[in-house]
Amino acid sequence: MSYSIGHSVFRRSFCGALLLVIGSGTQAIGADQKPNFVVIFCDDLGYGDIGPFGHPTIATPNLDRMAREGMRLTQFYAAACVCTPSRAGLMTGRLPIRNGMCHDRRRVLFPDSQGGLPADEITIAELLHGNGYATGCIGKWHLGHLPRYLPTSNGFDSYLGIPYSNDMDRLADSPKGREAFANPKIEYFNVPLMRDQEIVERPADQTTITRRYTEEAVRFIDKNKDRPFFLYFPHSLPHVPLFRSPEFADTSRRGLFGDVVEEIDWSVGQVLDALRERDLDENTLVFFTSDNGPWLIFGEHGGSAGLLKDGKGCTWEGGMREPTLAWWPGKIAAGKTSTALGSTMDLMATVCSLSSTELPADRTLDTHDLSPVLLGRGESTRNSILYYRGTQLMAARLGPWKAHFITQSAYGGGKPETHDPPLLFQLEHDPSERHNVAADHRDVLAEINDLVAKHREGLVVAKSQLGP
Ligand code: MG
Repeated sequence: MSYSIGHSVFRRSFCGALLLVIGSGTQAIGADQKPNFVVIFCDDLGYGDIGPFGHPTIATPNLDRMAREGMRLTQFYAAACVCTPSRAGLMTGRLPIRNGMCHDRRRVLFPDSQGGLPADEITIAELLHGNGYATGCIGKWHLGHLPRYLPTSNGFDSYLGIPYSNDMDRLADSPKGREAFANPKIEYFNVPLMRDQEIVERPADQTTITRRYTEEAVRFIDKNKDRPFFLYFPHSLPHVPLFRSPEFADTSRRGLFGDVVEEIDWSVGQVLDALRERDLDENTLVFFTSDNGPWLIFGEHGGSAGLLKDGKGCTWEGGMREPTLAWWPGKIAAGKTSTALGSTMDLMATVCSLSSTELPADRTLDTHDLSPVLLGRGESTRNSILYYRGTQLMAARLGPWKAHFITQSAYGGGKPETHDPPLLFQLEHDPSERHNVAADHRDVLAEINDLVAKHREGLVVAKSQLGP
């Protein structure tokens, strides 16, 4: 089984046994009925931006229903605080420090980047594909846009999407470019839309991108309804610049950002309806979360981390804790809230466990099986979170305690500030990280230091693939 905190978590899938008992007394899932997996992954959606996590004016009836029928996970984290390393962690079940997808200065891939996810990394899609799954990726990839790095080179049968952030390739030096973010127009952002490895539209019409991704997702579900499938659905939005379809223009009480999130909510409803209509709902785990916190420097165009501190780009809670829902009617009990620690890196062990797929045994993984939590059968083995900014370990969480060794504001001129002793917060008492209690809990700091020492023991830092 597994142990510890991302230190040599070598595990065998144990689904031979699990398959016999998974059906909560109703229906066992046989070898020919492997569950489907859908991962809906937003871009820069904050912890406080949807109804189930308390937003007062963004209307998300489909996410509200998903939460009522499924589980809210209130202490669930992205693998990193910006796009590229976050996605690399989800795809590989490994910290970005291990897979080459982090860098201290150039924090994400850009259109001029020559790198991408190294070929020897093993993705969730490759594992499931090897176990008979149809695999589709729809949306923002951001793990390399050159052919050898695209989804179709990483275990996916098909791809449709903008391969990197929707603000890249912008006309930044022109007057129009400077006003582009405040008043976005398609022609200010020259991003491509790709099908598999071909550019099919440039600039991509982003006003219809959420709708077109959604239509593609429903087509993928329909096409693969008679076989197990894995749909990875990373939206390009609500990353700035914000776009929405005409049907959603000026409809939200939250303004433009609300319009965009409400269209994503519509999209979630379309996916869940597609599963229901094909009688796939009771055999499909749907996960909804986000890649990092809200992009606060964009004011009203950025989202909200709710009661969490700060946002995208930093290692305060608002940068990495995400609004997360899991839905699987008949398997995940309706209307539950879990406070279990979880990470997007855990999706790998979880789907492998549920599908009787072997995890890679030749490498250090940082993935923990969350299926006991989801199915109400027990606890996961995850009891810690490591918060990296580039290659720098900034903070570590053990149980409810989080120690910050270094803090730094997300963007701009903020210098890193080292803390000795570290700042210490009890996150279950103080989710907003306001009350440093280090002086009263030296024993906890010692435990966290042990955790970090164990993590660093034998840590092999991969050469960054993000450099210019
Ligand atoms: Mg992002």
